[in-house]
Amino acid sequence: MEAEPIQARTGLVAILGLPNVGKSTLLNQILGVRLVAVSPRPQTTRNRILGVKNLPPSPQDGGDSLPVQIVFIDTPGAQQGTSALRRYMREESLAAAGDCDVALVLIDASERDQQAPARMGQGEAAAMRAMLDAVKAPRLLLLNKIDQVAKTQLLPIIEAWNQAGGWEEIIPISASSGDGVDRVLQAVVARLPVGPRLFPEDMVTDRAERFLAAELIREQLFRQLGEEVPYATAVTVESFEERAGRGDVVIGAVIHVERESQRPIVLGKGGRRIKEIGARARQAISELLACPVHLRLFVRVTPGWSREQRGIREMGYE
Ligand code: GDP
Ligand code: MG
Repeated sequence: MEAEPIQARTGLVAILGLPNVGKSTLLNQILGVRLVAVSPRPQTTRNRILGVKNLPPSPQDGGDSLPVQIVFIDTPGAQQGTSALRRYMREESLAAAGDCDVALVLIDASERDQQAPARMGQGEAAAMRAMLDAVKAPRLLLLNKIDQVAKTQLLPIIEAWNQAGGWEEIIPISASSGDGVDRVLQAVVARLPVGPRLFPEDMVTDRAERFLAAELIREQLFRQLGEEVPYATAVTVESFEERAGRGDVVIGAVIHVERESQRPIVLGKGGRRIKEIGARARQAISELLACPVHLRLFVRVTPGWSREQRGIREMGYE
């Protein structure tokens, strides 16, 4: 006879919002590990990524004393633009929006044009609307980056978003400091259905370690390369060898650029840039995998990978 599956409060929670509002920062803060790439530049996140948070039963969950498993979906966010990569990113976000039990919608409360719905630019408002139209689940509005907002400013922002309606709760947070994040978790748990756990309890993400390694290399490209170059790059992990005897991992990865002229930018003077990218990425991957990592990076010119459907599929965006 098979054992009854353990019941839990569990469901899918989509993290939605415009680029650069702090969606990935929030997921990392909740999970307590650096799982997804975060950078000050928009469009750092390209794929949907699941992050699984398990919690013990708590008195706040309606008194049913069930364990909690929240499956967060980090998304690239509401996208404008028509390239194959942008289209792919938009579809990833809409799929998550349409397929969740609770939607967390972030805005950047430190940005003047996000402090009221009426202040948003046309393109951004339209991208937000398309995303929200796809959501059938309850919506929580998270006003993020309140560490950058004066206390006296906060109330009018809450009021402006409240008047627009459509939110079950409005919660001010700072994803980077963790301020308000407990309230978000409570609000989410209260709205989750009861059912069997979706994932094993020790699983933090649905992404293979190879993908996560590529993600952390890409994070360094976004942090260390200026201007448009990061947007012209993709990373593929070509080899990933766990050496059981030594307890370490050897990773070989390719950084793809679109044009020959971008190669020297990634390499830097005397190879110093690629060395720094490799050193930082290696450290982050090593922390994530909790073992020593050896990282070999190569730069390859793969013309037009972001414009063509075939190109983005080969880079793992499908
Ligand atoms: P995403 O594109 O929505 O996933 O945004 P990211 O998580 O990549 O964050 C974009 C930028 O905002 C990064 O530079 C973050 O460090 C910064 N950021 C995120 N949350 C906060 C916050 O609560 N306060 C401040 N001051 N910065 C934040
Ligand atoms: Mg992101």
